[in-house]
Amino acid sequence: MKVTVDADGCCGHSTCCTLCPEVFTLSDDGYAVVEVDEVPAEFEKAVREAVANCPERAITAS
Ligand code: SF4
Repeated sequence: MKVTVDADGCCGHSTCCTLCPEVFTLSDDGYAVVEVDEVPAEFEKAVREAVANCPERAITAS
């Protein structure tokens, strides 16, 4: 699984970082950053939850 964050859509709510801190962190300016090229299988469920719960719908996983 690959995951991206739309930097224009992200408003820094940090929900994704709470749900899956192994994949999402907040940059110094307060926006989500994806830390991995490929999501490890054990974190795919948490990433799907982040996609579903991002208030801005700014996360895409494929
Ligand atoms: S949950 Fe969405 S809006 Fe919030 S930090 Fe993550 S990507 Fe950005």
